Amino acid sequence: MGEQAPLPQDFLDLSADCGGDPLRVQGPGGNTSIKLGETLWIKASGTELANALDDDIFVAVDRAIALAEAKGAGDGTCQAAILDPERGLRPSIETTFHALIDWPVVAHTHSVATLVHATSDQGFAEAKRKLDGLPVAFVPYCKPGRPLTEAIAAKMTPSVQVFVLGNHGLIVAGDSAPDVATLMGEVERRLAMPVLADGSPPEGSAPDGFIWLQTSALAHDAQLFSLATQGSYYPDHVVFLGPALPTQPVDGAPACLIQGQDLAIRKEATPAQKAMAQCLSDVLTRLPANWDPNAIGSEAEAELLNWDAEKYRQALAARRA
Ligand SMILES: [Zn+2]
Repeated sequence: MGEQAPLPQDFLDLSADCGGDPLRVQGPGGNTSIKLGETLWIKASGTELANALDDDIFVAVDRAIALAEAKGAGDGTCQAAILDPERGLRPSIETTFHALIDWPVVAHTHSVATLVHATSDQGFAEAKRKLDGLPVAFVPYCKPGRPLTEAIAAKMTPSVQVFVLGNHGLIVAGDSAPDVATLMGEVERRLAMPVLADGSPPEGSAPDGFIWLQTSALAHDAQLFSLATQGSYYPDHVVFLGPALPTQPVDGAPACLIQGQDLAIRKEATPAQKAMAQCLSDVLTRLPANWDPNAIGSEAEAELLNWDAEKYRQALAARRA
């Protein structure tokens, strides 16, 4: 061991294509994997699919150990399955479902079109209609990691190749990277949503230390403003931006939404935080007015941020006061 296995070029291309499209992957979100013999190659935690062609972003894990962790052994992080610990890469938190899904190539994205549908009952019903005829399963929201893998296991059959993950995203699996790319393209085409809301450029200047994101629809549309400031809708938003956007600058919050102006983001925000703020705008501006998205709720937020649920509720209340 000690060097990167020569991964198939079409697999690297699939990974980079997903990572290069902000409507499918934002920042370090999403992950791809390929099973070669007894080894599962999976995107490493914290790396970006967009860099798949240039950097070593994949880590090798023992497929059998990862599968055992998917089914309840170990701690579910698959760190015990790493084949080459000296490289210092940790497998994605989502490795267990890649091991569980028994197809050679698995690609997981935080597809905006999927998120628009998979946050509301109306959207789910519409997605079921649009994806009719495809080998698809619908999975309710669960915390990423082994809880999500267990929810996927409950819906999985040998023929299912597409998983729509409630308040989270999309998984597409297949025999080869080109097969996955084709099937994912079909799902994206069927679920694609036009931008329905737009705003006008902000007239005021951004708060001290902030810049406008230049995506102002959320600040101008009363319904979208209330959605963005009252809840969070998928895990990476919470991980990178915290819970619902505050309506003015708040210590520790990298972004805020100023009514009638724009989404403001701190000047020193990371590219991942900016990508996640853009993602919120991309999702909410495609939401039909008569769909009612379900926020993941404070308990799920506390889980994602590794907070005690009661302490988290108190901190949230203080932030809103
Ligand atoms: Zn994910």
